[in-house]
Amino acid sequence: MNAIVLSIGDELVLGQTVDTNSAWLSNELASIGWSVLAHVTVGDSLTEISGAIAAASTRGDALVVTGGLGPTKDDLTRDALAQVLGVPLEMNADWLSRMEAMFRLRKRTMSESNRIQAMIPRGAKMIENTAGTAAGIDATLGSCRIFVMPGVPAEMRTMFQRSVIPHLSAKSQDGVILTRTLHTFGQGESVVGEMLRNLMDRSRNPTVGTTVSEGVVSVRIVSRANTQREAEENLAHTIAQCVAVLGDLIYGAQDQTLPSVLAELLTKDQIRTVATAESCTGGLLAKMLTDIPGSSRYFQRGWITYSNEAKTDLLGVEPQIIERHGAVSEEVVRAMSISARKKASADFALAISGVAGPDGGTPAKPVGMVCIGFAHADGVLARTFSFPGNRQMVRDRAAKMALTILRYHLLARQMPF
Ligand code: ATP
Ligand code: MG
Repeated sequence: MNAIVLSIGDELVLGQTVDTNSAWLSNELASIGWSVLAHVTVGDSLTEISGAIAAASTRGDALVVTGGLGPTKDDLTRDALAQVLGVPLEMNADWLSRMEAMFRLRKRTMSESNRIQAMIPRGAKMIENTAGTAAGIDATLGSCRIFVMPGVPAEMRTMFQRSVIPHLSAKSQDGVILTRTLHTFGQGESVVGEMLRNLMDRSRNPTVGTTVSEGVVSVRIVSRANTQREAEENLAHTIAQCVAVLGDLIYGAQDQTLPSVLAELLTKDQIRTVATAESCTGGLLAKMLTDIPGSSRYFQRGWITYSNEAKTDLLGVEPQIIERHGAVSEEVVRAMSISARKKASADFALAISGVAGPDGGTPAKPVGMVCIGFAHADGVLARTFSFPGNRQMVRDRAAKMALTILRYHLLARQMPF
């Protein structure tokens, strides 16, 4: 089944707001087995909106529209839809009374202009909005099912998941679609793709595909079958095949993150603590670790030692070591991690020092070069990495690599890279 995503708003075509709705919707549609033919974006113009709806309805099995449902003059989506459908707008008494009740509850008076938000084209159905005042619209034009939702991302997401997905899932199949996403860090998408080679054949069911976001290469498995049981069995079988190929490279699934997985590992069976000593990441590693609720069980302190003096004053790194090897060196991160572990009385300490750029690189130590130290009860490890990308990317990958080093240690496995 094919869908078209239409986003509406002057702010979008003017470039003032980035259209995150379409990206999010495409992801959701793919996860329930729909192919997205196109993203279309138009401004708040009756002609443009009705033209886009009419054109899309001849090409897609479904059209998913966001924006232009507000109470103001520039919110024209419902008028445009009624025009294309060739029907008048009608007041939906049910939604009007719901809106009046909502305003009463918030002790605000409902203005006359808000009444327009309870109007929908004759013959269409209202989609309940549990997060705002604009109801959505569910209409059919020819063989195309049209869903109109508000532009506000949070309202749109809630409405899509509650009220649109069930209709699309029912239409997309005679059976069941199940998906699972596995996450990896440490190897590029091409390497992961190469490892999964045979599984990624497009004609295969379940399908296996990769996406990359902020250094995390994710593997999305979509299983289609006639029955729930068959879909589950096929999904489990393909997951097992992916796990067999990728092994420990997979750190988690679905909404798991590197820090959330580490939180589980550090508190499994017994609590183990970790300290951080950061230079170029400026606290990012500590931030990632403490993003997790309950992180005080395993994270007590970290140091940001950005300057050479700080490394010496706070962590006691000998000035001679810094002089001889430079601040970005395995010797320095080794000393930083040993000292941080001792001072924090922690089970583990991670230290990072690198050249985040854009300036400060030399032929010997180019931008992207990052040294990571890891001190544990049985010794210390120091490694040098080279991360591609801009300052933000280098810092992000460095912090994630530090977490990955700790993860492999906790799993008692050798890092494959
Ligand atoms: P309502 O939500 O009341 O129906 P609306 O649908 O017209 O109104 P807008 O007023 O156009 O929504 O937009 C509300 C907010 O949502 C604005 O901040 C706008 O920038 C944002 N927004 C609208 N469309 C998108 C989009 N495609 N991607 C990201 N943000 C969007
Ligand atoms: Mg708008």
